[in-house]
Amino acid sequence: MQTEFTLAQLADPDIADANNILRKCVHCGLCTATCPTFVISGDELDSPRGRIYLIREMLQTGTFSSKVVHYLDRCLSCLSCTTTCPSGVDYMHLIDYARTTIERKHSRNLADRLLRKLLLFSLPKPSFFRFVLLSGQLIRPFHAILPGRLSSLARMIPKSLPRLSKLSVPGRIHKAQGIRQKRVILVTGCAQQVLRPSINDATIRLLTRFGCEVIIPQKSVCCGALEHHMGREKSASFAAKANIKAWDALNKTNPIDNVVVNTSGCGTMIKDYGWMFRNDPKWAKSADEIATMTVDISQLICEMKIAAVHTGKNPVVVYHSACSMQHGQKLETEPIKMLRTAGFKVVGPKEGHLCCGSAGTYNILQPLTANKLRQRKLQHLNETEGDVIATGNIGCLEQLAQRDGDNVSLPVTHTVELVDWITGGPAPIAIKQWQADKT
Ligand code: SF4
Ligand code: SF4
Repeated sequence: MQTEFTLAQLADPDIADANNILRKCVHCGLCTATCPTFVISGDELDSPRGRIYLIREMLQTGTFSSKVVHYLDRCLSCLSCTTTCPSGVDYMHLIDYARTTIERKHSRNLADRLLRKLLLFSLPKPSFFRFVLLSGQLIRPFHAILPGRLSSLARMIPKSLPRLSKLSVPGRIHKAQGIRQKRVILVTGCAQQVLRPSINDATIRLLTRFGCEVIIPQKSVCCGALEHHMGREKSASFAAKANIKAWDALNKTNPIDNVVVNTSGCGTMIKDYGWMFRNDPKWAKSADEIATMTVDISQLICEMKIAAVHTGKNPVVVYHSACSMQHGQKLETEPIKMLRTAGFKVVGPKEGHLCCGSAGTYNILQPLTANKLRQRKLQHLNETEGDVIATGNIGCLEQLAQRDGDNVSLPVTHTVELVDWITGGPAPIAIKQWQADKT
């Protein structure tokens, strides 16, 4: 694609990087077929190619029409287009930069600003997020009569919240059973700690059972993904620096083998810390080191010799691959291999490459499209021979969980909860539901 940035514009390293990305696009349009928003709307501007044109115009001219903001806001950042693109267009960093530019220079309407502020303020702080969810239960029963986004938001609030974890406590170190093979930091996720603490508990049990010492850092904060995807680059980099500093200090005191992530959205973000600080001489090296030692839990489990102890009948697992897992981290086989090694039969749904509509806060900010994608995904998942849906990302897990008004939905769980159960841990709720349905 031709670009016409001035030399003065290209002196900005971010514009220079955007220019290099844009020039790789050859307009072939192959990415359109795998873009969820294009599949639903059939609108060229709702496709990666259309958005790439819009971003080019926006960056070159420095002007923002509401049309540009509308179509860029509708992008899920699912990165399906990056998997499809034969020219290697780095759409992820292009849309990230476009979002940052919009947030710096464009003024949103009041309702949008307030909703974004609420999300940015509550989601990264587990205690406050818990308080917001508990308070939200007051409006939950009235979701059908609430307007627009408020209605979707209320419908997503869980009926009840689980108790806080006793294992995943900041500052705790869980010793390995038997001979220690590895020493790892566990990233526990912000919303995940509140919505499904059982995922972190299962991860800790599983890792320690097979020889890992697991550290829950005292000073970890949100990975920054939430701020990053809303274009708040300053606060995202502030959060990332806090984590890099804390994990680097732990590594220097007593070397760490890996930073382990069990939420693929966070994993994609942390693995990108190197790029985030590429132009910052003070942070570039340590950011890159942390990014390099970061692994998804499935990558680590695939390296270990796990053995099933559960001997009864196992459910058939329909695996839903989160976009951040398959497109963001390019981990297509590891989670499936982990489940199969543990003894599960694993099947996949039709259109496995398409997003379920969760996409961070997309299901709150763009509820209509998110709901269409959710229904489409649930239909495909329920059409398989699977008994239980498993995924490696809390956002997808909540998006696919049963809600009021659903006709049918299989129980949903995290892959790690299944592997923990089959290797000696307690049965997760989804397994109990499946067992109850069988009898
Ligand atoms: S990131 Fe996803 S929604 Fe956005 S343009 Fe690419 S395929 Fe479409
Ligand atoms: S597939 Fe790649 S090169 Fe082709 S239009 Fe899409 S982004 Fe451009």
